[in-house]
Amino acid sequence: MRAQRRALVVGGSIGGLFAANALRAIGWDVTVFERVGDDLASRGAGIGVHDELLAVMRRMGLTVDETIGVMGRTRICLDRNGHTAHELPLPQLQSSWARIYRLLKDAFPDADYRFGMALEGVEQDASGVTAVFVDGSRAKGDLLVGSDGIRSTVRERILPEAQPRYAGYVAWRGLVDEWAIPPEVHRELFRYYTMCLPEGEMMLSYAVPGRDNDTRPGRRGYNHIWYRPTDYDRTLPGLCTDSSGRCHGISIPPPLIRPEVAARIKADARELLAPQIAAIVERTDQVFFQAIFDLESPRMAVGRVALLGDAAFVARPHVGLGVTKAALDAECLAREIAAADGDLKAALARYDAERRRFGTNIVARARRLGAYIEAQLKPPAERTAAERQPPAEYLMREIGSAAVDIDALTA
Ligand SMILES: Cc1cc2nc3c(=O)[nH]c(=O)nc-3n(C[C@H](O)[C@H](O)[C@H](O)COP(=O)(O)OP(=O)(O)OC[C@H]3O[C@@H](n4cnc5c(N)ncnc54)[C@H](O)[C@@H]3O)c2cc1C
Repeated sequence: MRAQRRALVVGGSIGGLFAANALRAIGWDVTVFERVGDDLASRGAGIGVHDELLAVMRRMGLTVDETIGVMGRTRICLDRNGHTAHELPLPQLQSSWARIYRLLKDAFPDADYRFGMALEGVEQDASGVTAVFVDGSRAKGDLLVGSDGIRSTVRERILPEAQPRYAGYVAWRGLVDEWAIPPEVHRELFRYYTMCLPEGEMMLSYAVPGRDNDTRPGRRGYNHIWYRPTDYDRTLPGLCTDSSGRCHGISIPPPLIRPEVAARIKADARELLAPQIAAIVERTDQVFFQAIFDLESPRMAVGRVALLGDAAFVARPHVGLGVTKAALDAECLAREIAAADGDLKAALARYDAERRRFGTNIVARARRLGAYIEAQLKPPAERTAAERQPPAEYLMREIGSAAVDIDALTA
């Protein structure tokens, strides 16, 4: 009988937890190393859910019932005056990052999940792979999974040439408690997946599980995401500068966003968005933003190291597939390892081929969907046909749409 093999999973967010649970299910000894010192469940916001994600979760033995999210059945597009310009029946389940993280984290033994472990280096040879941590400690295994997100240290060590590329815009986000929404706004919005399309921008809003992942009426949440062109050199540093004048780089912890920056977003919402949506933005206690990037890795495995989730490929959020992709990556990795009968090299080669094709396809698809927002930073005469604003009906059908996405991905 072969000795139990050991996997080191670096990054204990959703991608890392999918990998950890999947590898454990095929009999591996798995340890997760997460840089952050404490539970991550307070992170994140709404997450569009595809059937493929739920299917992976069920195959992993996780309980997926109706409390996993909030179902919207119809999409609407509102004009600047708040009238419904377009309507499209299209069922879509929305969950929250924390809800999915909780399920995955609870399924994995606490004793094998180590918080406060920041990876610094990776060493590998024929006998194994060693993770070297910032505190000087080391761990050795047969396989290292780099699931440490878009700024992956693991990727930096094995494929330094693969760098995220700024898409030219940021996503302003926020969450409002259902009970805090005025009744007339609730009536007009809450059951819909709503779009509002000021020129060159895109606002989406939809119901999600509320605080403590509650999906009961009255206790749900309402999530909004507003994509806005933002110049990388001239505007982004200002958004990332706190009240003391310190610039935090290309992101900033939400509580440090300057009050006048948050007030400006609310004022812009009143000027540019349907009044119902502006009312939602107005009632958001903490607006925050994330700069949008594309990332494509030339390989998903090098030696005994596999990249997974956002560490390998990041597609703009218009496909709503980041979590689903991480789950499918993890399932494929475990399946190929189990099928290879001890030949890790062959398993990783098959993992690389299958998941790299998927990653490349969704990055390209998401880039097409967001091309018109990116192009706003160019003079109109320099925009290509693909960079002109698409019709609202097209965006309503394609954004985060499970059926369309999955067809495109398997091609
Ligand atoms: C605006 C926006 C909207 C989105 N909407 C959706 C959606 O609707 N549906 C969807 O499926 N996806 C969506 N996504 C994408 C989704 O959030 C990500 O794809 C998903 O969270 C990626 O998970 P991950 O585990 O690969 O990476 P991450 O969640 O980034 O986790 C990486 C982990 O690694 C840890 N780490 C980093 N460096 C180190 C280190 N050196 N050592 C140890 N640990 C380390 C980090 O602390 C973190 O916990 C959206 C993203 C954005 C920006």
